[in-house]
Amino acid sequence: MATLRALLWDVDGTLAETERDGHRPAFNRAFAEAGLPLHWDPQTYGRWLAISGGRERIAAQLRELEGDAPQPQRVEALQAAKQHHYRSLMQQGSLQLRPGVADLLREAHQAGLCQVIVTTSSRAAICALMDHLLGPLQEVFRFWVCGDDVGSKKPHPEAYEQALQGLCSGGLVADPAELLVIEDSDNGLRAARAAGLACLVTCSHYGSLESLADRAMAAAVVSQLGPPARVLHGPACQGEQITLSYLQALVR
Ligand SMILES: [Mg+2]
Repeated sequence: MATLRALLWDVDGTLAETERDGHRPAFNRAFAEAGLPLHWDPQTYGRWLAISGGRERIAAQLRELEGDAPQPQRVEALQAAKQHHYRSLMQQGSLQLRPGVADLLREAHQAGLCQVIVTTSSRAAICALMDHLLGPLQEVFRFWVCGDDVGSKKPHPEAYEQALQGLCSGGLVADPAELLVIEDSDNGLRAARAAGLACLVTCSHYGSLESLADRAMAAAVVSQLGPPARVLHGPACQGEQITLSYLQALVR
């Protein structure tokens, strides 16, 4: 029997609908600015999400459009422009935290749990989100593991392995069974499980129940964290809300 001591949070799709309403329009602004005949509507972007990482997505799209692999500096310039637009969208207040996220972050913090960001997005994108969406609430996070810190993006387990190492070497947890990951996508679920960690999936716009290759890999799958949360797989929840006691029961 384990006691829950740490929550590992994915960012995109989990904390906010950043993919559909943040990253996607930011890529489109960067493409338009560069004079490229490209526009990712929500459905098209859903297909490109199969490729993890912004640079990787841009390179694959340019290769498809032009037939040749693009020069790395061109990809880098587009990625920098996209980051700029992403930050502008955050500043304009185009995004909000998903239902229940703020309450659960506060509840876990007050209960003394260690909370960590584990994402393979860039540190720049995470900074923009932290500053404009979380504000003072960002102090609940002990540390972040970002795309800049790892060689392989999710579904590779490297980011989770690094977070686990940080927590164990810091004496914050003694056993991986004391950790719970919160993810929204199949890639994230697979990364967490490959690192040997239990995972709750909170389905996002792109991370639907149908997109999960194997829902049985998840400790639970829910529609969202806040009311009216529906449990799609796993133990029933009380009051249509995912609370800390619900998460504790998942690792027990
Ligand atoms: Mg995600």
